[in-house]
Amino acid sequence: MEIKFCSLSSGSSGNCQYLGTARTKILIDAGLSGKRIESLLSSIDVRPEEIDYILVTHEHIDHVKGVGVLSRRYDIPILANEKTWLAMEGLIGEIDPENIRVFQSERAFELDDLGIYPFKIFHDAAEPVGYSIYYKKRKISIMTDTGWVNDNMKNAIKDSSLYLIESNHDIKMLKEGSYPWYLKQRILSTKGHLSNIDAARVLTEVLEGNGEIVLLGHLSKDNNIPELAYNTVKEYIEDYGLRVEKNLTLHLTYRDRVGKVYSL
Ligand SMILES: [Zn+2]
Ligand SMILES: [Zn+2]
Repeated sequence: MEIKFCSLSSGSSGNCQYLGTARTKILIDAGLSGKRIESLLSSIDVRPEEIDYILVTHEHIDHVKGVGVLSRRYDIPILANEKTWLAMEGLIGEIDPENIRVFQSERAFELDDLGIYPFKIFHDAAEPVGYSIYYKKRKISIMTDTGWVNDNMKNAIKDSSLYLIESNHDIKMLKEGSYPWYLKQRILSTKGHLSNIDAARVLTEVLEGNGEIVLLGHLSKDNNIPELAYNTVKEYIEDYGLRVEKNLTLHLTYRDRVGKVYSL
């Protein structure tokens, strides 16, 4: 029995991650139109009616745009913490009360054959979370949209078989780019987004080099270049003594196409 993971889309134009076992299929965020997500799913041979749950990280539109539509169209329960529910209410439309599921951040729970641990992150949203998801001996961690990574978060994601970690911007590109000052401050703040170097630093603290898969996510269109993100992280973790390809797999995720489907 295996678990599959695929990043359907990652970035500020829309986030949606798919994760599935033979029994349980979930989306983490659904931040594109319902139609777009249906077509992304079909490209990996998953029918939208097979989706059992949608887990939400936070209420920003690039994470919730299609949540309500998909829930109504396919009768899918939505899981989020209470503050996120309150904050996204006006954004996702009417939801069948049966499909409103509330969890507490930092408290593990079971979802059929999956174990879920939502941990708090640092972002300018009501109560944003990352997720560690357990299936048998496998663990998949998703941590994007955070301006800071504390020890609690590092402990939460440690020992994963697959990491999706934010590598949002190159600091120099952001500082010298055309964004207005307030937006640059927001992104660089501890409630903004992780830079390429931030991602690399966190990775050196959690990686063991035992064949983990690392996916860089939520890359900025304006303040990053995929090759730059990849090379910055690769060089940094190799300086630290880990060899990409030999000790671990390092791949990108995309804002305009699906990533690889990983089977763990
Ligand atoms: Zn986002
Ligand atoms: Zn966000």
